[in-house]
Amino acid sequence: MNVVTQNKLLSFAEARRIVERYAGVWAPTEPELTNLLDAVSLVLAEDLLADRDFPPFPRATRDGYAVLATDVRSVPAQLRIVGSIKAGASVQDSVVAVVPGDCVEIMTGAPLPTAADAVVMVEYTHAVGDKVIVNRGVKPGENVVAAGAEARRGDVMVPRGTRVHHAVVAIAAAVGRPELAVHRRPRVAVLATGDELVDINLPPGPNEIRNSNTYSLAAQINEAGGEAVLLPVARDEADELALLLGKGLNADLLLLTGGVSMGKYDLVEEVLASLGAEFFFTGVAIQPGKPVVFGQVKADGKTTPFFGLPGNPVSTMVTFQLFVRPVFDALAGSEPEPLPFAQAKLKEPFTTKTGLTRFLPAHLGGTHEDPKVELVPWQGSGDLMAASKANCYIVVPPDLEKFEKGEMISVLRF
Ligand code: AMP
Ligand code: MG
Repeated sequence: MNVVTQNKLLSFAEARRIVERYAGVWAPTEPELTNLLDAVSLVLAEDLLADRDFPPFPRATRDGYAVLATDVRSVPAQLRIVGSIKAGASVQDSVVAVVPGDCVEIMTGAPLPTAADAVVMVEYTHAVGDKVIVNRGVKPGENVVAAGAEARRGDVMVPRGTRVHHAVVAIAAAVGRPELAVHRRPRVAVLATGDELVDINLPPGPNEIRNSNTYSLAAQINEAGGEAVLLPVARDEADELALLLGKGLNADLLLLTGGVSMGKYDLVEEVLASLGAEFFFTGVAIQPGKPVVFGQVKADGKTTPFFGLPGNPVSTMVTFQLFVRPVFDALAGSEPEPLPFAQAKLKEPFTTKTGLTRFLPAHLGGTHEDPKVELVPWQGSGDLMAASKANCYIVVPPDLEKFEKGEMISVLRF
């Protein structure tokens, strides 16, 4: 694969394509047998197979009467009730012969008796003693799921590479799997750089600030199903940076924050280069997050991808979602997931400048019929308060600058 060393800024789409293309080159973490609920948000390393037919018997999907559809072709029709079957009924109880003119009371989830071929909903009936008047006809198969209609024994119900979410947990439970083979959580080293930073348990001096990026990144890594390895803050000093960088390269993925801009003490790229880094891009035409850097380091027979994320807290968060996440997903064993874009109606007009794709902190609300979005006022990419009030970014393409109230606009959820 070509190494794309860029001096010119890439567009957002180009950078995203590069990240997605490279994501697959690093092997995913090894599989581990894991307790079902501990596997949530990790990625399946095995196909989940049906251990029996789903459903295992023809299942009634409504409370009502199991009938022969031909008996209720013309309505009202009167039928004789010859039995009652509830969900979980014994096999003996569920073997009720239904001959023409007969029906069986049946509950949702119960097995349809042999010979019956449909269920009439109780709402369309009127029972008196052992007789029932049916007021609406049914087609054969109506209100019944045939045995094996969802899956046949041995079918793949969930393919490997799928992230385990609540519906996958439901399937694992349904096929009797208290443990699943999933890829180990990728270990992601986090290295914040900057002379002004102090850790959160120390009092900051008048010109110092607390290191928040290490923690916001750790939270994003946890949410994605990773294990964050927190390194101590590196001063803006080459030897110290190289030492801590070396430690970070032992992880599956290394994230640096700060020190990638054009400032005199922005040493991250220089120190990475001294360790033999290849750079796939150094800068993307976006705001926030323009100085973001992506590459890999080969050392001691191991190749470790890395990102240098800009230090401004909102830039760090955005660039994690836009660029780190696909690489993380691949290491975790899945295809990179598409970004969760949506469309919403703009509540208030705004203007920006052209030239960059912008991801502006915003709040998405409204209803499912009329989703609405508004910008959260902010002081720029260092504004933590704005980020905490937002639940999405408004995505502004690089060629547009003026947006009207009521216009549909693209948003990125997080
Ligand atoms: P840099 O990318 O190093 O030029 O930093 C850009 C801005 O982000 C500066 O105002 C830094 O003080 C701030 N910053 C850098 N790293 C962190 C961090 N770990 N936590 C909070 N703010 C940071
Ligand atoms: Mg800095």
